[in-house]
Amino acid sequence: MMDAQIEFYTWADRIAGEMQKRKVKKQVVHGMWTPSGYFHIGNARTELLIPGLVFQALEDAGTHAKFNFFVDDADDLDAVPAGLNLNAEDFKEHLGKPIYEAPSPDYSHETWADYFTAEIKDVMHEYGLKPKWHSSYENYHKGLYDDSITTALNSARKIRDIWVKITRSDKPENWLPVIVKCENCGRSGTTNATGWDGKHLSYSCTQDREYAKGCRHEGQVMPKKGNVKLPWRLHWPATWNIFKTTFESAGKDHFAASGSVDTGKVFSEEIFKYAPPLLVGGEFVQIKGKKISGSKGNAISLKQWLEFAEPELLRFMMISYQPQTVIEFDLESNKLFLLADRYDEAESVYFREKSLNEKRDNQLKREYTLSQTGKPAKMPQISYSIASMISQVYAGRSTEEIINLLESMGAIKNPGKKDAEKIIHRLKLAKTWVEKYAPEEMRINVRETASKEFVSSLNENEKKALDQLAGELDAYKKEGELQSRIYEIARENNVEPKRLFTICYQLLIGRDSGPRLGPFIMTIGKEKVKGLFGRAID
Ligand SMILES: [Zn+2]
Repeated sequence: MMDAQIEFYTWADRIAGEMQKRKVKKQVVHGMWTPSGYFHIGNARTELLIPGLVFQALEDAGTHAKFNFFVDDADDLDAVPAGLNLNAEDFKEHLGKPIYEAPSPDYSHETWADYFTAEIKDVMHEYGLKPKWHSSYENYHKGLYDDSITTALNSARKIRDIWVKITRSDKPENWLPVIVKCENCGRSGTTNATGWDGKHLSYSCTQDREYAKGCRHEGQVMPKKGNVKLPWRLHWPATWNIFKTTFESAGKDHFAASGSVDTGKVFSEEIFKYAPPLLVGGEFVQIKGKKISGSKGNAISLKQWLEFAEPELLRFMMISYQPQTVIEFDLESNKLFLLADRYDEAESVYFREKSLNEKRDNQLKREYTLSQTGKPAKMPQISYSIASMISQVYAGRSTEEIINLLESMGAIKNPGKKDAEKIIHRLKLAKTWVEKYAPEEMRINVRETASKEFVSSLNENEKKALDQLAGELDAYKKEGELQSRIYEIARENNVEPKRLFTICYQLLIGRDSGPRLGPFIMTIGKEKVKGLFGRAID
């Protein structure tokens, strides 16, 4: 429980505090996503993690809350994303159909919506997220939106005026703010609603779109149970009213001037008579300076993340950046190492092994708490960068051998069974990272013997420096001290430090550069290093 007097240490707590000022029976937090393509960590930020973290902050503050996640599968499928193993031509006949009804791009699932949502359903609990799952398509078919649709039709004139005024676009005088599903061809993107007598809605399937042509059918329906839906600008505020939403975050594009946030707030108040929720715009997650796209190849999915990092690290990433801040991330630079280091630091502060200053400590502890997917339990205190080295150098060794090695390096102390499991898990994650994503210079293959040609190129000073380094290795227990000693040894023997580092890397891994040498020598093991150096000197 958080004290009401406490300073707000994270943005999620600040938002929760703001929400508590609204007198409601229950706080209702929403995330919403259209499954037209892949769900990636950028979607996860605004649609799952920001609301999920606000939900957690409310609960921690003793405020009862509800967390809903909506899959907007009543939307039309209007494009086939790249990267799918299917012939876009063959799929053309399904464009313009609701995502819920379009077939899956392969045989693994039944519908398009199933195909793109199965993974989220499957892994979100691993991130400690347990929202109530909603299919908008099913909600329409259950009749949950029937009243809102009638209200919209009866207020068509007023809605048109607001719409035209805010978006500065034009709409015909007799325009009706609903989308009818054609009874003949099953598409909704190609119809026009043409008349409303208070009970019956007339329509014609005469809109020609780039992706689909209307079938020219004309008909009349009673708008209920899914045969009619609302356009996004009304669907959104109608959803707030139906589910009594008090908080929602969405991609910042919705917040653009005259965007769906601007219209949504007015429609909510004026048409549905509901005070709009607190709305927060989430910035993008960028990979190498580019927005992640669900239809291109640069997306990292939630499932993929679990292959190379703990779920807590993604939660920590999201809570440690303000929602309005762009997050720059990629898997080829050291950004993952830095994220893991920041998380590990917060953990050390949480477990009182480290202290910065009171304010920062409190903030880190709170960020750490909100990052947990279960009860806070110490993770391995072996840094991700060391884990990436060890996973390569000691591939195939037993758990026991690796734990012994880490103890002898001073990396861990008296690990329990649980610690060991976590260490091995981090090593596994780091190994996947190395195999799938690491840049060439991070890949390590320790040599058995040095190349003869290289050894014959060494001069006397260089051999003396190596000999001295090999002789002194045992004296160093700390990686940092060893690292600075290598510079001194080079100078004492009139060798350029840079040259001595190159020689070491050449003898150890047959390359001119590699991971930080001090920790790397400790990782490979002093005996092995002495052997490799020794053979060069003899
Ligand atoms: Zn039609």
